[in-house]
Amino acid sequence: MYLISALKSLSLIRLFAALLILLCLSPGTVIAQQQTDQQLEQELDQYIVLTRDDFDQAGKFLDELYQRYYINPDADIPLASKVRLLSYQATSLLYLKQQLQADALLSELLALIEQTDDPNALAEIYATEIQFMLYQQLLSAAVLKADRLELMATQADVPRVRYYVHNILGGLFQADSQYERALQQYTDALDAVIETDNQFTLRRRAFLNFSIAQVYSELKKWPEARVLTEELIADAKKYQYKQFLPELYVMLGFIVAEQKDLDAAIAINQLGLAAAKEIDQPGVELTFQNNLGSIYIQLANYAAAKQALHQAAEQAKILNDEFSNQLITFNLAYIEVMEGQHDSGLAKMLTALEYFKNNDTKSGYESTLEWVAKAYEAAGKYQLQAQTLQQQLQLRAEILTSAREKSISELQNRYDTKAKTQLITILEQENNLKAQLLDNQKLQQQLTALFSLVLIFAAIMLYQLYRKVRQSNRKLREANKQLEYQSLRDPLTGLFNRRALQDNMQRRSKFGRRISDNNTHANGFLLLDVDYFKKINDSYGHAAGDEVLKQLSARLIAVCREQDLVIRWGGEEFLLYLDNIQPEQVAGFCQRILEVIASEPVACEDKLIPVSASGGFIHLPFAGIDETELDWERALQIADMALYLSKVHGRNQVYAITGLRCDYELARQPLTNDLQAAIQQSMVDYITIKGPALPQ
Ligand code: GH3
Ligand code: MG
Ligand code: MG
Repeated sequence: MYLISALKSLSLIRLFAALLILLCLSPGTVIAQQQTDQQLEQELDQYIVLTRDDFDQAGKFLDELYQRYYINPDADIPLASKVRLLSYQATSLLYLKQQLQADALLSELLALIEQTDDPNALAEIYATEIQFMLYQQLLSAAVLKADRLELMATQADVPRVRYYVHNILGGLFQADSQYERALQQYTDALDAVIETDNQFTLRRRAFLNFSIAQVYSELKKWPEARVLTEELIADAKKYQYKQFLPELYVMLGFIVAEQKDLDAAIAINQLGLAAAKEIDQPGVELTFQNNLGSIYIQLANYAAAKQALHQAAEQAKILNDEFSNQLITFNLAYIEVMEGQHDSGLAKMLTALEYFKNNDTKSGYESTLEWVAKAYEAAGKYQLQAQTLQQQLQLRAEILTSAREKSISELQNRYDTKAKTQLITILEQENNLKAQLLDNQKLQQQLTALFSLVLIFAAIMLYQLYRKVRQSNRKLREANKQLEYQSLRDPLTGLFNRRALQDNMQRRSKFGRRISDNNTHANGFLLLDVDYFKKINDSYGHAAGDEVLKQLSARLIAVCREQDLVIRWGGEEFLLYLDNIQPEQVAGFCQRILEVIASEPVACEDKLIPVSASGGFIHLPFAGIDETELDWERALQIADMALYLSKVHGRNQVYAITGLRCDYELARQPLTNDLQAAIQQSMVDYITIKGPALPQ
């Protein structure tokens, strides 16, 4: 028995819902690439707002827009806006039961398909067509058109259009008992809602939840359906959506009755009935009366049931509502059977059942069978009762396969997750600021810590670098020192070398060149050459020769002052560059040198090697001659010639050239290449200093 008018109330609600989907389409503000008429789009948004408070007023406003923008021969609006306007107007006329005008407008809308390849416009047109088919209960024809619309929906990018299209498809699949696909579409619709978060979001979400609640109802998942519906009622009250309250009460009353909470169901239906009367919704009033009748039947209160059902029947007649008429007839016939008129009652029930078979959802038809079986039982027709129950079971199995349950719950999860995410987003907006502040603080602390770390690290690096640089500088300095030492020193004796003298003489010419006319500060060169050194090498060996050179060096250093330079001038030649040696000191100094060399033989291993040397001395500057005339190199040449004289005149002595007896110009030539001649011509003063007597 079709006691609770599941199909009736639900299908009616679905039609309302479809209308409301249209009405609460997202305002056209987010239209992306679509070319639209801004003015019209805004007015259509305004129309949506109007429908919330007053359907009739809104209808008039829409009609005025239709005249101004579509009928008016001067009107020229972009196709996308034209499609939206025609779609709204056609649907509005459809729900106002102006079928002919509505159909005519739909034809005009469909004709626009030829003029565009904009997927948004096409999707909106196809969706409107399917909405018409659903309203006219042309379910199979609508399902055939679903694929085309689904394809367009994937290409559409205007959220308003996508929301509308997915809702229409959801409704279509729901009516066709394809609940998974229906939930899929509602989920996609929710995606579109999330994309356009604005003042309409709550409302749009509410209608999506309404659709979900319907799917739950048809799947007989009563607790879930009840929770959702109760939430929707709370929202409708909170946000003053009064005109939606009656439909929501129909739904809740139906669900609660199915849960066999009959007293509560009666209370809910009566609340809803009053609400429907208040805002003048006769179609919904009728549903409440019918549903109350069916609850009374379940309570076996047939008198109250008949009273409610008769009132509903009157309304159905007035509204020319065939479906409701069949429903009420079915319920009244059930009472007939219960009251003993088995055959006539059953005959009426079966006629109505046939109607439902063709015009109801599987789910609605399935629950009707239950009451037919009960009627057979009351009539004692047990075989027919069993057959009917068998048929019902089969149908139920079709609707509620476990696989389907599973996939639906998955889809529901997806939907819930998305809805929750959106809610969380809204809540988080508040907290975000705080969180961001906290995050910023944390970040700042972390940055400060990091910065200190970096500083410390950098300091350590810098210090290490500094140390390294210092270290390498020191090494470099040492190496340089070493190099300098090596470049200025003789490796065997540690004495200065020729380069050291050259450097010194360069410094001297720069800073300290002595003035010629007073000898108060005179320098001197004493060039020495070891006598018969070849013999030493030959007699004692080269190493012994080396040792002699070393020991002689030490003896020379010991005699010289710190400011004198002791230079190894060549193999066994030494040069003493003497600082501040007065003429009267020359003989004594040379004497000391000859003695320090020759008075003691050099001890090498267990041998004593007698050594002597010959020398040549000269002052620098020489004889008051400016050093530009007679420089240190020329002076050394003279010293070398004096040394030669020492050698040829017996060795172990020094020839010291102490002065000039004539003009330098005269003496220049012999001084350059023949000192012996200069001496013979008495051009120079000289003295000879003899070394100590040598052991024979
Ligand atoms: P004279 O009295 O005429 O100077 O006789 P001499 O043997 O010293 O003759 P000369 O100056 O020509 O010879 C120098 C020799 O000194 C030649 C060379 O073999 C030797 N000699 C030069 N440098 C070194 C050295 O570093 N070590 C050693 N052991 N012998 C050297
Ligand atoms: Mg020599
Ligand atoms: Mg020699």
